[in-house]
Amino acid sequence: MYTDIKTILQKAAENNFAVLATSPINMEITRGMIRAANKKKAPIIFLLGQNMMRQHAKAEIIIPMIKMLANEYSAVPIATCLDHGNDPERIMYAFRNGFSSIMYDGSLLPFEKNMEETKKIADLCHQFGMGIEGELGHVGIAANGDEKDESIYTDPSDAATFVSYTNVDCIAVAVGTAHGEYPHGMIPHINFDRIKMIKDATNGMPIALHGGSGSGDENIIKAVKSGINKVNMVTDVFVHCTRKTKELLADDSKIPYMNLMMEVENSVCDFISHWIDLTGSEGMAEKYHAVDKMGLLTSKSRIDDGE
Ligand SMILES: [Zn+2]
Repeated sequence: MYTDIKTILQKAAENNFAVLATSPINMEITRGMIRAANKKKAPIIFLLGQNMMRQHAKAEIIIPMIKMLANEYSAVPIATCLDHGNDPERIMYAFRNGFSSIMYDGSLLPFEKNMEETKKIADLCHQFGMGIEGELGHVGIAANGDEKDESIYTDPSDAATFVSYTNVDCIAVAVGTAHGEYPHGMIPHINFDRIKMIKDATNGMPIALHGGSGSGDENIIKAVKSGINKVNMVTDVFVHCTRKTKELLADDSKIPYMNLMMEVENSVCDFISHWIDLTGSEGMAEKYHAVDKMGLLTSKSRIDDGE
């Protein structure tokens, strides 16, 4: 069933689990991911970034495909979310093309300006029945070593002010992870106490951990126990697909392309299943079914009417 991040993450926060958020850039990866969510009976969130859509994964094609699969796999709560939206034109593009949620990234703006801009998008999202995630502190780039810079970590009391002013449904925090690939062999040090402090200061607000890729299984499990409800993992699934493709070609350089794609899809399903295990969301899809019986979650009632 197609829904938004507010619906998915409220339940996650109430029940102390996290939901995997990852990027469906083509049919095989999307289907592999949804099959994993269905197998694990877990909710899942699909992220598309501004550049991803400019370069390859057009929302006009990907979003209808996700909605169609969400109807097919009706027992699994599925949300879409524009990732790191900061370009007004791209945010409107996401509204026009049936996204159910927006992540607005004002994290490089001064605090007051970030609050003002996030609130504007939050108000708009809520008018259309969509979910909204803001970011406070700044999740930087792993290649630059930004995860070690505590000056960009999220301040818990600022987080409380941010959440109550903007009315966001989820807050992305900087607590020791970064985007992209860490230097080989390095596992980041996550500040779990900071996660707990933000959770307490915001009265249990759903919290997103960005830069989950390469963060280490134990770290992800502990972060969820500390209060994380959304784990963003994008780089690792793409690295996995490249590696799997190379392996398949090394085994059989004449493998037909369609078979290659089918094998990659199967391996995405296994890879995502492991990440779902880390988030603690296995079996949690059933917690949403009572909500859906009230007719609130279908794409038709929430999104299509607004277009
Ligand atoms: Zn991110």
